[in-house]
This record gives sequence, structure tokens and C-alpha cells, in this order.
Amino acid sequence: MARHNFDALTSVEMRSVTGPGGMTFRIQHNPARAVSTGAKVDAATLSKRPCFLCMKNRPEEQMVWPLGVAEDGLTACYHLLVNPFPIFSRHFTVALADHAPQLISGDACAKARDMVLLAQRFPGMAVFYNGPHCGASAPDHFHFQMVDASDMPLLERVARGDTLPFEVISAELTPDKMPQWLAGVLAALASRPENHGEAEPRVNILATATGSGLVRMAVIPRRAHRPDFYGTDEGEWLVSPASVDLAGTVILPREADFRSFSPDTLRALLAQTTYLL
Ligand SMILES: [Zn+2]
Repeated sequence: MARHNFDALTSVEMRSVTGPGGMTFRIQHNPARAVSTGAKVDAATLSKRPCFLCMKNRPEEQMVWPLGVAEDGLTACYHLLVNPFPIFSRHFTVALADHAPQLISGDACAKARDMVLLAQRFPGMAVFYNGPHCGASAPDHFHFQMVDASDMPLLERVARGDTLPFEVISAELTPDKMPQWLAGVLAALASRPENHGEAEPRVNILATATGSGLVRMAVIPRRAHRPDFYGTDEGEWLVSPASVDLAGTVILPREADFRSFSPDTLRALLAQTTYLL
């Protein structure tokens, strides 16, 4: 399955669309991502399906690179896994070894430190976190994902201080300082009127090593999980933005959506799901 989906990536259709603020977004027609883009993440659906990130439910062939407390200084054990539904030529899932909810705000944001340590351990990669209502298709099992940082152009724009299309809150810090910084950011976001009364504010978070022991973290506050035109009916688009989409590559599993996606669609998508500047 992984080989088929990685092979299919080499012939995936791409084109560019200019977004707000002049940022160019790549649009990717990726049929294999329909499962993730269309994932139902309500509590009733989750309670009925076996968790696909738990070791006991993974395919027998799935190899594991363990990342641990003793060797890697992390707060918990994680399993580095090849993502069998890739968006880019290098695409990993870093799943917590134990089944626990997708909440980075837990334990005073202790896992933000893990995120930074992972970014340092794998320089040149971007580690990212999709909140439970911001694109994670397994909101019941804590996980990060990891791709080449060059595939996340938003990080470069943040580093250069370029104009951004939407609000991004960023900092460049050492691993030990990151939990407190992120806790402060999330506390500030929780008081916004768009707070949905959930366990943590809706965010996507990206991190990459910048050298000299520091890591840049970029938090994208979210207004909504999906736009009101999300769906599979006439006039709707199957599009569910998460870190990768907002960092510059919008994933569209359906060909009709890929053909008709315009700068206006992109603007509407970002206006509804992020805080446009
Ligand atoms: Zn699980």
C-alpha cells in the first residue's frame, strides 16, 4: 500500500494558485488522501473504529523506529512510522507509543519540548501537529507528522519576515523554553470569541531546527475545522485544511475540485478557517 501510494506521488498533478498576500500555494490532486480528507472525527465514529495508530491495529508490515525517553530525552516513547498515505516523497507519522488523546496542551505543553527535540534530531525536516479539530484524522491518538522542511514554504516565509496571508505566531527558542511559550500562546487564544469550548484552542503547529541549538515554532490559530463549502455535493469542495495545506500545499483528492479550485476558492477557504491579515 505504501509503495503504491509513494509511486503514485511521482505522477500526481500539481498547479499553482496565488493566495491572499501574494503567497503562492501549490494545489495537489491526490486521490489517495480521500480517506484522510473525508475522515469523520466525531466521538461516535471514533468509538466504533479500531485506532489505526495503535501498534496492535497497524498492518503487520509496518516497521517501527522507536524514539525514547532514555536515548532521545523525550517525555514519552514514540514510534516513527512511514506514512502509507504520503503527500510528499518523505512523509512520516510520529505516534505516541501509548493511546492518548491529541492534545498538545496537556501536562503544561510538555510535548512541545518533544516536538522541538524531534526537530533537532531530524534537521532539515519540519515536525507538525494538527489539533484534534484541525485536520488530525486520529484525534484519539497523540501524534506528530514529519516532512521535508522545504515542502512547507510557510516556514521559510516566517523565517524571512515576509508578508503572510494569515495570522502566524512564532518564536525561535531552545527545547526547554518552548512549553512555557506555547502554553502562553494557547492561553491567549483560548480567550478569543471563536473559542469552541474545546479542551484546547484550534491550532496547527510547525517546528523546524534553525541551527545553533534553536528551533522555530509557528502556531497557526484556526477559526474553523473546515469551510462551510466542505462536502461532496455540487458546488462543494472536499478540502480539509491542516498544517500541510496552510504551509503551502492544498490537498484535493477529487479531480473536479482540482480543476475548479481558483484564487477565490483559496481566499474563501483561508478566510473561514484562519485569521486572514
Ligand atoms: Zn491508538
